[in-house]
Amino acid sequence: MLARVLKVVLIVLIVIHAPPATAQGIDAILAGLKADNAWTVAQQRSICEIPAPPFKEAVRGAEFKRRLEALGLRARVDAVGNVLAERAGTGKGPTIVLAGHLDTVFPEGTDVTVRDEGGRMKAPGIGDDCRGLAVVLAVARAYQRANPVHDARIIFVGNVGEEGPGNLRGTRHLYETELKGKIDFFISVDGTGLNITSRAVGSHRYRVTYKGPGGHSYGAFGIPNPIHALGRAIAGIAEVQVPTTPKVTFNVGVINGGTSVNSIPFAATMEVDMRSENADALGVVDQKIRVALLAALDAENARWPGERAASAKLSMVIDTMGIRPTGGQSDTAPIVQVALQTARSLGFTPNTEASSTDANIPIALGLPGITIDGGGVAVGSHSLNEWYEDGPNGWLGPQWVALIVARLAGLDLPRP
Ligand SMILES: [Zn+2]
Repeated sequence: MLARVLKVVLIVLIVIHAPPATAQGIDAILAGLKADNAWTVAQQRSICEIPAPPFKEAVRGAEFKRRLEALGLRARVDAVGNVLAERAGTGKGPTIVLAGHLDTVFPEGTDVTVRDEGGRMKAPGIGDDCRGLAVVLAVARAYQRANPVHDARIIFVGNVGEEGPGNLRGTRHLYETELKGKIDFFISVDGTGLNITSRAVGSHRYRVTYKGPGGHSYGAFGIPNPIHALGRAIAGIAEVQVPTTPKVTFNVGVINGGTSVNSIPFAATMEVDMRSENADALGVVDQKIRVALLAALDAENARWPGERAASAKLSMVIDTMGIRPTGGQSDTAPIVQVALQTARSLGFTPNTEASSTDANIPIALGLPGITIDGGGVAVGSHSLNEWYEDGPNGWLGPQWVALIVARLAGLDLPRP
């Protein structure tokens, strides 16, 4: 681990103090991205029309792979469905992963036809993350065309499992198995605008179920009721106090249970989400919510006296839906500084933000990772009404990504 940390530090020092990369190579790449902006937008549109529900990214992944191969890259699909294609470099530099996520939040059967409305493309997923996938393709294409010499290994990725149910499984797999110990810099392009996610919001998500024998609402009256227990639990959660700094949030987002109005239900379930960019604070709210869950169970069981109730006591099961780790990367981290400096050289100043993205994985491991926006403007992410507008300078997104990669790669002269 120490050797690895030293390697990263060394590479970071080289990157930070490297002379500006050769203008000729970078200029060709930047000019190509601007000139071929229509190609990028066309990629975004056509990728978006291939459905990619959670855990069903394979069709979109196969097409993404085909498009990378069409650029002259050798591409492969790993064991969980991530698509990887590599520009090898000389092998003397760092390994840079540039990723967009294949999955959407939309279930099978969602109409993903892209509709044009007043200069906007409208479709579920058009920004999140068809924009990111298109930007990865555009940057890969610009590098393939300009074909600069570089030491770095640049791996273009379309990863699975970024959205809620996927629980970051694609990026987790890259770090734990596929590219274990090899990734020096991780850049995810996710969504639109021109800002940086440099800090990781961690989350804990649970499905909580109260269970009992259930029975007739009149005939079996007097036994504990799972929905009543759930109600007590939600009331308890609703009273949990959290600090404003660091920001900590909690939410009961889904409830389920019961079969009919005249039945004591045999089960009641809820899904709870809590988040913070501070791991300790997240642990504290997690503990408070567990206390509220148990108190509700005990209160409902204690509510009903007698032998019949005693033999119908409720139980509680907590299933983990997802744990997204957080970490302590600060905005002074070199990868964040490279992103800020390259943005300024293109004429804009990004905000740095905290969010829950694929970069949570490296950040939680103490490794350099950021998620950046892909340019343009979108509204309505995760909704059926999502739209994207490329505007007068949508190409700035791909240019920014290409420049960050160039800086991290210590880009050299183009081949003759
Ligand atoms: Zn996304």
